[in-house]
Amino acid sequence: MKTMLKGIAASDGVACGRVYRLDEPDLHVSQQTITDLDYELNRFHQALEATVSEIETIKTRVNKNLGADRAQVFIAQMAMLKDQDLVGDVETRIREQHVNAEFAVALVSSTVEDELAELADNPYLQDRLTNWQTVAKRLTAHLLGVTLPDLALVNDPVIVVTHDLIASEAVAVNPKQVLGFVTDAGGRTSHSSILARSLNIPAVVGTQAATHELADGDLIVINGTQGNVMVGPTADEVTAARQTMAQRVKNQRRLKRLTHYETVSQDGVGVTLAANMGTVTDLPRVMASGAEGIGLLRTEFLYLDAQHLPTEDEQFAIYRQVLETLGSRPVVIRTLDVGGDKTLPYRPSQSEANPFMGARAIRQSLAHQQVFRSQLRALIRASAFGHLSIMFPMIATLDELRQAKAIYDDERSKLTAKRVPMGKIAVGMMVEVPAAALLADRFANEVDFMSIGTNDLIGYTLAADRTNQNVAYLYQPYHPAILRLIDNVISAGHAAGIPVAMCGEMAGDPIALPLLLGMGLDEFSMAPGSILKTRQRISQLDAHELASLAETTVNSASTSQEVVTMVQAAVPGVLK
Ligand code: PEP
Ligand code: MG
Repeated sequence: MKTMLKGIAASDGVACGRVYRLDEPDLHVSQQTITDLDYELNRFHQALEATVSEIETIKTRVNKNLGADRAQVFIAQMAMLKDQDLVGDVETRIREQHVNAEFAVALVSSTVEDELAELADNPYLQDRLTNWQTVAKRLTAHLLGVTLPDLALVNDPVIVVTHDLIASEAVAVNPKQVLGFVTDAGGRTSHSSILARSLNIPAVVGTQAATHELADGDLIVINGTQGNVMVGPTADEVTAARQTMAQRVKNQRRLKRLTHYETVSQDGVGVTLAANMGTVTDLPRVMASGAEGIGLLRTEFLYLDAQHLPTEDEQFAIYRQVLETLGSRPVVIRTLDVGGDKTLPYRPSQSEANPFMGARAIRQSLAHQQVFRSQLRALIRASAFGHLSIMFPMIATLDELRQAKAIYDDERSKLTAKRVPMGKIAVGMMVEVPAAALLADRFANEVDFMSIGTNDLIGYTLAADRTNQNVAYLYQPYHPAILRLIDNVISAGHAAGIPVAMCGEMAGDPIALPLLLGMGLDEFSMAPGSILKTRQRISQLDAHELASLAETTVNSASTSQEVVTMVQAAVPGVLK
């Protein structure tokens, strides 16, 4: 019988395909005493062979689909399986301690972890630890007779279904392989949803029941615009879904003619439309999107999609590549924002009861200055190759801003003394903590620009975790309190003579657009796939008329619904 699962519309579009469950099976092992040692050693060797052949298959696929660079890590993993020290250690434990093979693997893992934890700052050893953990997990799965899912092992494109796509998995998603994704948990601005939008893949999150209701191979239709999942569609429904998919491609093609146009309202007010970039693989999409620059480069991908903390030179190469590709177009690169729903797989942080309110973003950078300084040096060096601005995330106090700027100035002076070539760099901050939004006039005097991060600003203002589906109803972008804060930031920026941008998801939201234009926002930065549609909408809007709509809304609306009604009444035709 057909069922419909309801979730949160996380990334527009319709997709029809077979389910691929990405959740890890239970890999818990317990100790058993072994009497037939030959049998156990043989079992271990069989699992070893199966793991080698599995990693070989993954390596070949990744090499073909994503290139030799991405396949390198599997060569290192194969080497671990042939490492006589590690393999020999497992064998010795089976033989001498008479324990089962999976338990012996777990014992070796914890020894390796203990030894390497002491040397956590060495990138080579971090790689070695992560590789061993990965192969140990595969070995254990084979020994337990369970399958460890891996998108690289899938032959046809699938719809990924998982409890929650963690950021380090999401950055590895290959859009050729993944038609869409559905999760139990999460919200519209969870980082996995943001990634789906940047890849232009439909997504429904926060369904609560997807992993309970859906099995591998089920045929489903997901609608990421409405936030629903149809399980077991009829032939007619599949045809209808395919037509919607084709229509979307046609619409996008039609908008292409706006790619090289400037962004100007009907009454001649120009604004900048920039792209948000979450992984370096977004670069071709950004270049084809019609963006006038990059308004937010989230540098986390460099740290998440790696086995170790990236070195200064590794970062420099990537920043340089982005800046050179963008040429004269401006690029705003944000310093590292880990914590919250983005944890580094190779650098387990202390678990926190409220990670979004914990040691995140600039707080981590100021606490781990070596990492921060190395990122700043890489950025300053890369500035010679394009038009760079740097911004700091999660600034809550002037002290934090001043400290971050002082460290930046220090690194800049040291590089200047060494005659390292560099360009002119604007230094700005994200306004995403209500305290900073309220005090925007004070901050505005100390930065070159401000960029409003509504994803967090909404969450913190309404005290509703952006990734928690239980409070998704409270996560309200059009809440009058949010509009007042945004209006305050824009006015404060303009009074101080600096530009104000928005790089939260609200910048690409059609209902918010007339209000933001009316408030005088200078730059809208959004998923590349939303740029042309937004350019078209702006060309149909009158910015001067919208200034009074924004003013009335900020001054008189009391609820989100009132705001929506006012916008719909003022610009009915533009929101389609
Ligand atoms: C934001 O908070 O709006 C933002 C752009 O930052 P992130 O989504 O990466 O937290
Ligand atoms: Mg943020």
